Formats: sequence, structure tokens, C-alpha cells
Amino acid sequence: MMNFELSEGQTTLIQLIRTLNAEKIVPYLREHRFTEKNGFSQYLLDILREHNLLCPVVPKEYGGLGMDYMSVSLVVEEIATVCPGLAFVVSNNVHAVQPILLSGTKEQKQNILPAFTGKEACLGAFASTERASGSDVSSFQSLAEEKDDHYILTGQKEYVLNAGTAKYLTVFSSSSFSKKKASLRCFMIPNFLPHFRLGKVCKVAAPLLFDPMEILFDHVKISKSNVIEDKDYSGYLLLSQTMDMGRALTSAVAVGIARAAFDLADDYARKRVLNGKTIISNQVIAHSLVEMAVMIEMNQLLVRKACWLIDKEEDFAMVSNMSKLSASRLAIEVTSRASEIFGARAFLVTSKIDQLTQCARIISVIDGTDNIQKNTISTIMKVNEI
Ligand SMILES: Cc1cc2nc3c(=O)[nH]c(=O)nc-3n(C[C@H](O)[C@H](O)[C@H](O)COP(=O)(O)OP(=O)(O)OC[C@H]3O[C@@H](n4cnc5c(N)ncnc54)[C@H](O)[C@@H]3O)c2cc1C
Repeated sequence: MMNFELSEGQTTLIQLIRTLNAEKIVPYLREHRFTEKNGFSQYLLDILREHNLLCPVVPKEYGGLGMDYMSVSLVVEEIATVCPGLAFVVSNNVHAVQPILLSGTKEQKQNILPAFTGKEACLGAFASTERASGSDVSSFQSLAEEKDDHYILTGQKEYVLNAGTAKYLTVFSSSSFSKKKASLRCFMIPNFLPHFRLGKVCKVAAPLLFDPMEILFDHVKISKSNVIEDKDYSGYLLLSQTMDMGRALTSAVAVGIARAAFDLADDYARKRVLNGKTIISNQVIAHSLVEMAVMIEMNQLLVRKACWLIDKEEDFAMVSNMSKLSASRLAIEVTSRASEIFGARAFLVTSKIDQLTQCARIISVIDGTDNIQKNTISTIMKVNEI
């Protein structure tokens, strides 16, 4: 049976986020958006903490909301319509806890997950990218050497979102260079371990809440109780599965960005009068808005299909990668069309369209580049042919 209706709970959830957007987030951003970066975040995080929404996937038994991916995608999409930076924080936080949700022991979950819930909820960071192994996780240079009851981790990670404020870091590293990706290990570690430190800030143009950061491990001793693994998942499978799930949420952020750009362009086109008529009365402008609306609708459906498959525990990898590839193009295309409609005003440093464009560009690299999504989809298609 096909059913495109959202549940009553999901409709209420969307309404809640729209109320938070209108009453709290937008007024705050109006005042601070162009004056502060990396400094105005706590207020915004607290708004979500108040409703236990910073990491809504944490199961109820550990203090969370136990939200399914469909609902989380609705949350991040709505937040992204007013503050993509905040939406990235939530999707990234979910990313950071996903390995422990998939494969953590009961003890690990009891020890770690409650910290991600409630009014004092912490943030997590997900650290995979390294200087020498961006898209290629088989060439990690960070090494986790196995000793008796612990690992010694040495190396570097970069472009890690939330790193500067995260209480827990989810780190993927190699435990043997010769075994490459077969040797990947996943660690979920607190940020206060000796010989761990934050490196340089990777300042990006987009108005994120926090710029991504480099993190450095210089012989960090990690107890085996911080290794996330079980018989079903090798570190590599765990990484792939986490990334594939995360791609559905990143796509939802992209849909939110596109919706925001569409709304601004639509509103502007109805108000901007040239030679006695609104610019929307030019068919080319009206048709451009139509193209944008169609793309948004299609991508929203793809995101929801990916989340629906994730929630049903069916094979979701192909659809979530398709949704990410498509959503990356959506965000670029819609912000670019919106920019065209705004003309010169899109180029002002205070332009919301310009800020959305910067956020849109991030979608095409975060959680793997468009090319990597294509590689993944083509691998799955070939496997399916056999
Ligand atoms: C704002 C922001 C936030 C981020 N947050 C995080 C985070 O929280 N955690 C984290 O771990 N990382 C994060 N990243 C890093 C991101 O995941 C990487 O940038 C991405 O994986 C690509 O790696 P790279 O930049 O090193 O590019 P490279 O891997 O060097 O790729 C460069 C180009 O070559 C192409 N390419 C490379 N290999 C192939 C191939 N085999 N086939 C086809 N094309 C290929 C790529 O598609 C790309 O176009 C973030 C990045 C940004 C910009």
C-alpha cells in the first residue's frame, strides 16, 4: 500500500519546529547572523535542548526521543529552512551516535547515550576525513595499534564538524596499514583523553554554527571499552552504513536550503516591480520558479523514500546515495536560480541567498562527494546485475 501522508505525530513535530523557527530562531538570527560566527551557537543549541531535539534518535530508554529517520529528516529539513548551520549540527550529531546505535554494547549505550539527551545534552563529532585520505577510506594514515587491553591512536583528522564543542568523538582509523579497510576500527571517545588536541580551524565561507576543525592524536591511549564493534559489523561496514544513513539526513538539509531559497525568490519575484509590472509576470521567471518547485518536490520524495527504507530496515544504500547526489544538485541549482531572480541584490554580503548558496555548496562534499555517491550507486547497480 502506498501512503504519502505524514502521521499525526510527524505533523505536530513539523508544527513545533515551525513555531521554534518563527518565535525563537529567526528573531535571534535577524539580530546576530551577520555579526557573529562560532559565537552565537549556544542559544540556538539550547532551543533544541529544551525539546530534547539535539540528538533525537537516541532511544527512549537512554533518555532520548527514540525518533525514526523519517521524523529526524523532517526536523532537519524544517530547521534548514531558517538556519542550515543548526541543521548540520543536528544531522552531524546523529551521525556521531549512529555507530553506537548500530553496534554498541548495552554497557556502552548506558554509559554514553544519556549524555546526548535532555537539557544538558552534549554534542558529538564524526571524524573520518584525513589530509591524505579524503574520499578514500582505504588510505587512512591514522593508526590505532592494538596493545593488551587498549589501542594507541596516532594521526590526524580534519574538517570535523562540531569538533570544538563535542564531548564525544566518533573516530574511524586503521589498525593495520597492510590490511587497509579490512582493519578499520571505530572508537567513541571522550574529548578529554591525554594527548588528544584540537588543531587548526578550517574556516569556511558558509555561515555554520561552528567551523570544522582538525583534531590531532599523539599516542592517545584508548580503552577497548571504547571500541564500537560487534560480530555483524566490521569497522568498514559500520562506516559505510553510518555514512549511507547520514546521507539521507544531509539530503533533507539540502531540501530545507532549497525551500528557503525558493521562498525568498518567489516572494521577491512577486514584489519586485519593473516598468510597472512584477518580474514574476515574465514567463521566464515564473517558469524558473516552477522548475525549482518541481525539483524540491522530487527531492523531498526521494529523501522520504530513503528514510522509509532505513526505518523499515530494508536495503537503503542505493536510494540514500541517490537522494544525496540529487539533493546536492538541487541545492546548487535552486540557490543559483534564486540568485538570478534577485539580480545584484544576491551579491550583497548581507544577502540571505548568498548565505544559502554557501551552505548549498557544502552538500556536494559533506558525507562524501558527488563522485563518491556515483561510485557507490554504480557499485550497487553492478552487484545487483549479477
Ligand atoms: C563544511 C564541511 C564539513 C565537513 N564535516 C566533516 C565531518 O564532520 N567529518 C568528516 O570526517 N569529514 C567532514 N568533511 C570532509 C568531507 O567529508 C570531505 O571533504 C569529503 O569526503 C571529500 O574529501 P576531500 O575534500 O579530501 O576531497 P578529495 O577526496 O581529495 O577529492 C577531491 C576531488 O576528487 C574526486 N575524487 C576523489 N576520489 C575519487 C574517486 N575514487 N572517484 C571519483 N572521484 C574521486 C572527489 O569527488 C573530489 O571531486 C567536511 C567538509 C566540509 C567542507
